[in-house]
Amino acid sequence: MKKILVTGALGQIGSELLRKLRSYYGTHHVIGSDIWQKEDEEGPFEIIDVTDEKAIYNAAKKHNVDTIMHLAALLSAKAETVPQLAWHLNMGGLVNALETARELDLQFFTPSSIGAFGPTTPKKNTPQETIMRPTTMYGVNKVAGELLCDYYFYRYGVDTRGVRYPGLISHMTPPGGGTTDYAVEIYYEAIKSKQYTSYIEAGTYMDMMYMPDALNAIIKLMEADPEKLEHRNAYNIAAISAAPEDFERAIQKHIPEFELKFDVDPVRQKIAESWPDNIDASAAEEEWGFKAEYDLDSMTKEMLTNVQMKQN
Ligand code: NAD
Repeated sequence: MKKILVTGALGQIGSELLRKLRSYYGTHHVIGSDIWQKEDEEGPFEIIDVTDEKAIYNAAKKHNVDTIMHLAALLSAKAETVPQLAWHLNMGGLVNALETARELDLQFFTPSSIGAFGPTTPKKNTPQETIMRPTTMYGVNKVAGELLCDYYFYRYGVDTRGVRYPGLISHMTPPGGGTTDYAVEIYYEAIKSKQYTSYIEAGTYMDMMYMPDALNAIIKLMEADPEKLEHRNAYNIAAISAAPEDFERAIQKHIPEFELKFDVDPVRQKIAESWPDNIDASAAEEEWGFKAEYDLDSMTKEMLTNVQMKQN
């Protein structure tokens, strides 16, 4: 049975991942951590600043974990406002977490992102291995992180694994400042005011995924037979390729009067345009059998129901 330390565990992914891992492996097998703590935390938890290598190492040793899931990071849109801090947190935190994994011989997971691609990457059916020249600090961090995780595997034999997440959509914890956040906000505004003003322009396609598929991907990849993992650290995974007007149409099936307007934010629009329209996820399917279950319509139905329940 695994024993797992999760960093950045109170963020959009971590807060749902903790719950899922605890129901799968048992509450006391999953240690959450972040730079702050909730009062009603349901299981073991440590305050860890990932820029402090000792703090990660000490917690991993204290709880005798065999796996680190490293989520602490500054996301794409936020990172662009404070690029130097983003480098310090995203790269410094990753090196520290990898060093702990090396020293204690732990299995290691960290997510990359479609943000690792750039304007010269082929936009349609983006291959697993392709041109990666991102123009954002977040993208630079993600490409460097993918390579660093490969390096720790080849050089030190650390069992590093990872996926390139598309924009993630969920209803439990608000997103942390990514470029695809509109695809979460749109559901809240649809329920609250039956209209939404998108900061991303019509016709801008990006890959998205519903959180339950994103969480299943982590468990499936971490349990996969290592012999079959050719691309360890940066599997393209995909579910939904959509533009704002696709969300509008999907929402209107449930709320016919819903109206979408536009007030484009040039910074986030530029980031969105540098990312693929849709990516080829065949390596993840072939090497560890990943296939998303939710499409835009099934996700929309669940998001609207859950957001409605929250707002009542
Ligand atoms: P988030 O911003 O919601 O959460 C990040 C968490 O890290 C927060 O709880 C924050 O308190 C914590 N944190 C910040 N500084 C820290 C520090 N110094 N030490 C420890 N913790 C710190 O992010 P998320 O959406 O949960 O993303 C997690 C990972 O997944 C990141 O690597 C991100 O790049 C990647 N990812 C996310 C998405 C997405 O759509 N959410 C898409 C692609 C990749």
